[in-house]
Amino acid sequence: MSVAIPEIDLDKCTGCGDCVEFCPLGIVSLVNNKVTIVRPEDCIYCTDCELFCPHGAVSCPFEIVLAGTGAPPSSPHRRK
Ligand code: SF4
Ligand code: SF4
Repeated sequence: MSVAIPEIDLDKCTGCGDCVEFCPLGIVSLVNNKVTIVRPEDCIYCTDCELFCPHGAVSCPFEIVLAGTGAPPSSPHRRK
C-alpha cells in the first residue's frame, strides 16, 4: 500500500523552518537547509505543512475517487 506524503518543491523551499515547527508529529526536519520528511510512514496527511509554508513549497494533493460502478441507474418504473 502506498503512503501519501506531501510533495516538496525544493527550488521554492527557503529553509525557514515553519513547517518543522507546525508539523504536529515532528516528522519534518531541515537537512542542509532544505525540508525533509524524515518518517514519511508516520505522516497523517493533516496538510498543516502546506497551510503554513509561506513560500508555496509544499503541496498535499488529494485524489478524488468517484463512488459507483459507472453503470447507469436502474429505474423501477420502466415500462415493458
Ligand atoms: S515552510 Fe516551506 S519554505 Fe519553510 S522550510 Fe518548510 S517547505 Fe521550506
Ligand atoms: S501533512 Fe501533517 S503530519 Fe504530514 S508532514 Fe505535513 S504537517 Fe506533518
